[in-house]
Amino acid sequence: MAPLIFVALVRRNAAPYGRYSSSAWGSMLIPARVAWLTQEAPSFLVPAGLLAYELARPAASAAPLAALSPSSALLACFLVHYFHRAFVYPLAVQRGSKPTPLPIWLMALAFCTYNGVMQGLYLMYVHPASGSRADAIFWLGLALWALGWGVNLHSDSVLRNLRAPGETGYKVPRGGAFELVSAANYTGEILEWAGFALAIRSLPGLAFAVFTFVNLAPRGAAHHEWYLKRFEHYPRSRRAVIPFLW
Ligand code: NDP
Repeated sequence: MAPLIFVALVRRNAAPYGRYSSSAWGSMLIPARVAWLTQEAPSFLVPAGLLAYELARPAASAAPLAALSPSSALLACFLVHYFHRAFVYPLAVQRGSKPTPLPIWLMALAFCTYNGVMQGLYLMYVHPASGSRADAIFWLGLALWALGWGVNLHSDSVLRNLRAPGETGYKVPRGGAFELVSAANYTGEILEWAGFALAIRSLPGLAFAVFTFVNLAPRGAAHHEWYLKRFEHYPRSRRAVIPFLW
């Protein structure tokens, strides 16, 4: 599905939420905070529920997920990201943020549920059993994940602080990775899940990294074009998503 979605998003110039929010996708709009909380929650709740179920089982019949292992470290990365995305990020989203059309919310909900099931099952039951090792590639992937998450968190907070209370307009983001790219929050998220895929070295990890790129890169390119058209003195050296390249 990824190539099809990539072409569709490039042709329509980004999914219609946020600054591209449109009533053409149905008149039902969900407030930004409610949309983020409800659409992202399954990605945390499904693996957290599986983990709770395993911890409650008698030791002899429980899954082979050791407390300190590559699998449990990656499960912790996934859970910590989605705890923040589902339960902390929505509370911080600015009140002036645009609402999300129902079809976009449904697609995000389907993605987060499917991905939560896929990553949760894989990390709980398949990855530990494959005898995965904490080798150099695992540590490199984990370091890239941490760097990407840091860039994502910092960039989201830069965006959040651009508006004064009650404002709904857009300003030029500055500082951190925004000095290199227009969509620094997406650059961070893409790096995060690319690092995760490197550490896990499996199809579920690769699928998640590819889908993140497919979702966010065209939207980041659209943001870049949008800034260039809207702000006469927009920094010309910035790229869209990939520093120095694109
Ligand atoms: P955007 O950058 O489009 O918007 C983030 C927030 O900042 C919105 O509240 C937006 O307001 C506000 N904002 C953005 N630019 C400006 C500006 N120039 N001036 C003032 N306010 C601004 O990000 P998304 O909403 O698409 O994504 C949010 C987070 O979710 C990101 O961290 C992203 O990485 C992640 N995400 C992950 C996906 C994945 O597939 N893994 C998919 C989608 C998102 P407004 O709503 O009014 O535009």
